[in-house]
Amino acid sequence: MSKKRKEKQLTMGLRKRCKGLCCRYFALPIEAPEDWDDYDDIRWYLAHKNVDVFVEDGHRYLHVKNKCRHLSEKDYKCQIYDKRPRICRECSPENCDFTDGQYDYDLYFEDDRQMEAYMGVKFPQKAARKFGRSRSKAKCF
Ligand code: SF4
Ligand code: SF4
Repeated sequence: MSKKRKEKQLTMGLRKRCKGLCCRYFALPIEAPEDWDDYDDIRWYLAHKNVDVFVEDGHRYLHVKNKCRHLSEKDYKCQIYDKRPRICRECSPENCDFTDGQYDYDLYFEDDRQMEAYMGVKFPQKAARKFGRSRSKAKCF
């Protein structure tokens, strides 16, 4: 089968199966943490719901699992297609989430507790001091 035909088939298959997976999250590159405070900032990101952090090919990303407000749940189409942002225009069948296969993260943090454990390994003494005792407080004072 020719390459063009294969691509067409792939696109047709995706069109049928597409439920707008790529419109249901975004991933922002973040700087590599260097010290306790940097890691603690990431721990703070991870304390929020629907957020995780992953490292892929040495780059760190804040992954926000939040659906775009312009994705229709009726037909999974973009409701602002003609004026969709640049990033949306870069999506293509080749980098579709359906075809990319398994993610191969170097590191993955699902929530702040996982980051806390990681900080415990990286900074054992400081982590024991800071996380060793836990007090119940709802305010920042
Ligand atoms: S603007 Fe449209 S294409 Fe872009 S993420 Fe939202 S629904 Fe998807
Ligand atoms: S890349 Fe295209 S086919 Fe894949 S989920 Fe996004 S819109 Fe659907």
